[in-house]
Amino acid sequence: MESCIFCEIIKGNIPCNKVYEDDQILAFDDIHPMAPVHVLVIPKVHIQTLMDMSVEHADILLALGKSVQLIARKKSVAESGFRVVINCNEEGGQVVQHLHIHILGGVRLKDELG
Ligand code: 5GP
Ligand code: ZN
Repeated sequence: MESCIFCEIIKGNIPCNKVYEDDQILAFDDIHPMAPVHVLVIPKVHIQTLMDMSVEHADILLALGKSVQLIARKKSVAESGFRVVINCNEEGGQVVQHLHIHILGGVRLKDELG
């Protein structure tokens, strides 16, 4: 596997502004925020894209969902609202090849998605 920037963040070799961590999940502020709240939620195991998830990752999928709820509350956007984005592969705009969920909020987001 080529070196993965998010795996390096998980190992502590690259610093991040940590928002949440448990045994399966790490979440941290995006380095180039697109909204006042912009958090990346990643599994600690290296899964390249959403398309590489399978039934063996069911517990990780659940953990990702639970951590999104927790982080939304922690960042005070649970009630006001927020957007969850997973970019997948080139045309989906995925730059970092380690599955990640973007949580965007803290402002009225634009209506268009594509
Ligand atoms: P993608 O375009 O792959 O869906 O999103 C990758 C995201 O990772 C981008 O929003 C980018 O700003 C963020 N990012 C890339 N490198 C780093 C880094 O070293 N630290 C942090 N905190 N975010 C990063
Ligand atoms: Zn990785």
